[in-house]
Amino acid sequence: MHIPPHADFFYVRPQDVHKERLFVVDQEWHHLVVVHRTRPGQHFFAVDGLGHCYECELAGTQVQRAEAKILQRLEGVGEPRLRLTLAASPLRGERFDFLVEKGTELGVSRFVPLCTARSGRLAENRIDRWRRVALAAMKQCGRSVLPEITDPCTLPQALDLLSGAKLRLVAHEGDGCEPLVTVLLGLRRATISEAALLVGPEGGFTAEEVEAAVAGGFTAVSLGSRRLRAETAAVVGAALVLAICGGQ
Ligand code: SAH
Repeated sequence: MHIPPHADFFYVRPQDVHKERLFVVDQEWHHLVVVHRTRPGQHFFAVDGLGHCYECELAGTQVQRAEAKILQRLEGVGEPRLRLTLAASPLRGERFDFLVEKGTELGVSRFVPLCTARSGRLAENRIDRWRRVALAAMKQCGRSVLPEITDPCTLPQALDLLSGAKLRLVAHEGDGCEPLVTVLLGLRRATISEAALLVGPEGGFTAEEVEAAVAGGFTAVSLGSRRLRAETAAVVGAALVLAICGGQ
């Protein structure tokens, strides 16, 4: 299947995919039929968020529901070979939206809203909003896996959740942290399938939190001598891990 570089992707719910047909419904129907004015006979690409991409031909449409014939199916479109979890503290305003959007574009597989001693309060229905941000970013950047946004976790919960990751990193601006790039290049392209990166809140991690992460097998890494905003550290850290260890 050849996917044109600027092809638009539309999301199809996994339960709406059948053997030879799939149905694009509700908001995605609006995007496909009203916004993009796709007509019966025309082809489009649909992704189910579970790593499947379908080349489709629009067969027919009624209000809020379009039926399409599946022409081809491809696995793993737009996905890196490394599954990276980014655990970061919720940030004020739209900074965490930015972190989720850029992280999704970069190939992050899972976001964990991390509640630490200095975290900001997590506003109502932010999780649903971030899930919408991730869906839009998945479509825009041409991925086929919808990144997971977990429920908020405390640091101990996150350390436990991420204990199985082969590469575990905590970004810290403290003294004595090894540069992230040195750590990654030192892996000598070992095949890492699962990694985790922790990033603190605007006020930073406490010393005890960094010690707990290191005790839990995380390596404290530096992103340079300047103090980055949390969303900057998260995006730069994710980009470096995925570029050096994540393949495509
Ligand atoms: N403690 C500082 C900075 C916090 S920035 C303050 O009070 O302003 C928020 C988070 O971004 C930090 O917890 C850390 O995870 C990450 N970060 C910021 N700059 C960094 C750097 N130069 N190296 C590694 N991580 C950094």
